[in-house]
Parts: sequence; structure tokens; C-alpha cells
Amino acid sequence: MGKGGKDGEEENMAAWLIGVNNLKIQPFKLPPLGPHDARIRMKAVGICGSDVHFLKEMKLADFVVKEPMVIGHECAGIVEQVGTEVKHLVAGDRVALEPGISCSRCGLCKEGRYNLCPDMKFFATPPIHGSLANQIVHPADLCFKLPENLSLEEGAMCEPLSVGVHACRRANVGPEKNVLVMGAGPIGLVTMLAARAFGSPRIVIVDVDDHRLLVAKELGADETIKVSTDVKDVASEVQKIRKAMGAEVDVSFDCAGFSKTMSTALGATSSGGKVCLVGLGHTEMNVPLAPAAVREVDVVGIFRYKNTWPLCIEFLRSGKIDVKPLITHRFGFSQKEVEEAFETSARGGNAIKVMFNL
Ligand SMILES: [Zn+2]
Ligand SMILES: [Zn+2]
Repeated sequence: MGKGGKDGEEENMAAWLIGVNNLKIQPFKLPPLGPHDARIRMKAVGICGSDVHFLKEMKLADFVVKEPMVIGHECAGIVEQVGTEVKHLVAGDRVALEPGISCSRCGLCKEGRYNLCPDMKFFATPPIHGSLANQIVHPADLCFKLPENLSLEEGAMCEPLSVGVHACRRANVGPEKNVLVMGAGPIGLVTMLAARAFGSPRIVIVDVDDHRLLVAKELGADETIKVSTDVKDVASEVQKIRKAMGAEVDVSFDCAGFSKTMSTALGATSSGGKVCLVGLGHTEMNVPLAPAAVREVDVVGIFRYKNTWPLCIEFLRSGKIDVKPLITHRFGFSQKEVEEAFETSARGGNAIKVMFNL
């Protein structure tokens, strides 16, 4: 380890969520390195909407932050040390980290749907610590080696991109599926990029914000449509979407998750198509479900992702997906910059992905 600290060893520091709007860089003691673990020096950590949510409210859905917790879960770094049983990594390897540790014993894990494991231990979901730290210890099988041509920032982007990839898999996106994306925020954009990489020939994306639509267009959307937040506009906007698609809407992704966006997605999706609920704006929604049900429109939910890192890395390596334009802001790892970075992400505006370089 490097210099500093009392006994010649560098003190490991992390960004701790202490209370509402209160993040402090403080020492973070690492657990011992198990035989199947790797110790990673973090180099790139992105800020996610969920991180900001925890900072503003100290809770998200059923998860409540009761004790100080290290924040951050979109990350990549360099291997410092591996446990005695680790075969596929050596010190110096650059890796992207999958944040969730499942139990591997329950029925869902054994079935392969480990993202639904009831005993999941996931970075920065209380009471589990996250990864905005100088170093962390993580199971080596969740550390994926990055090819030469990928940066550590691109490695960190595998986490949000995984949401889009998992959604596309759940909705069977392919070369014959025209896709509608509701919402052009970070998750809407990665879902759009994933749908394109899965071969979707035509993608229409809608949002309430002109700037976001401009970004979506630059990133490859075929058509963009500005919509309102007024439920009364659903019918007319469904018509606009269908016209813009110029073909059947086979799959819709609701990356916002409000009554209005879900109503629009259900109405726009053609008979026999799929609506995938990705964003969770509201837990309860008022939507015209019966008219969609009699047209056999399937509604599928998604929760995080599973087995997505290898494909994300391949999409990035081959250039099928470029996530670099999504990284709009960069900050270092000091108390002042951590505060500024979270404020930047919370403010929204032009910020898509705010990234720490450690
Ligand atoms: Zn995230
Ligand atoms: Zn399990």
C-alpha cells in the first residue's frame, strides 16, 4: 500500500452517507480478504439516481438507511490483491464490478434468477456498504476483466448499461422489434443504446425535456417526441408515437414509471407486444390495463440485472455501444468535490452521468 497513515499504511477512505444531505469522507476499514475475494483500488465510480435518492431521503422503497453507510455502486478499478483460490485475476488487472452478492443457495439463485434473491447483498443498499472508497474487498467472480481498449469509466458504466441489457432480454428485443422508450434520462438512454445493440431497427423515444431529447437524437434515436405531463394528452400522444414509428410498436420500455407514461406505453404498444416497466416513479398507478390485456399486451417487470457484465463489456469493446457521451461531469475524491458532484447529479439539467475519478 502507499504512503501516509500512522503506521506507514495508507488509511482507506470512503464517502459515508451520515444523514439527509450529509456525506462525509471518513476512514473505512476493509474486511479481511477471503480466499475467493479480490481487493480492488477504485478508479471510477458513477453516481446513480438511487444514490441521490438515499442522500435526499435516507430511504428508497423499503430500504431505510439506519446507520452510516458507504455510498456508490457503479464502479471499476484495479486489482491490488487476490485471495488464494482466485484463478482468473492477478494484481494490476483492470476490472468492472457487479455490485450484488446473491446467496447462491435459494431456489431463485439456483434457477439463475439471482437478481431476485431474497438475501441479496448489494452495494449501497442498506445495511450493505457501497464502493465510493479508495479500496474495497469484493468476490472475485463479480469482478470482470476489462479489455485494453476500454477505460475504467466505461467499466463503471456497465452497471447502468446492465439495466438496459436486462430489460431488452426480458422483452425479447431483436432485429424485428420496433422499440418505444418512455423517458430520456440516464436509464432511458442506456435502454435505447441496448435496444439498438440488440438489433432493434427503429427506436422512438419520448420525454418532457427538449435537451434530453436532443441528447437522445445525438445518441441514435430515430425519432424523438416531446410529451406533456398531463394525462389528458395520452390519446393524442399515442397517435403521435404511432405515426413517428411508422410501423407497429412491438416493445415499449417505460423508463419513468408514472400513470401517464405507463398509460401511453400500454396504448401505443401493438397487439401481442410487450411493455416493460423499468423506471419506478410511482409505486401505484392508474392505467387502462383491460384494453391492453384484451389485445394480449404483456407487461413485464424488471429488477436490476443478472449475467449482464460479459455482454456489456463485449458491446463496449466492439463499439456496438458507446457510453462515453453519457459521462457529462467528472469530479475528484475530496470532501468538497463529493458534495459538488452529488449536487450536480441531483440538479439534473445537462447532467447525465456524473463520475468520480479516484
Ligand atoms: Zn445504478
Ligand atoms: Zn439466493
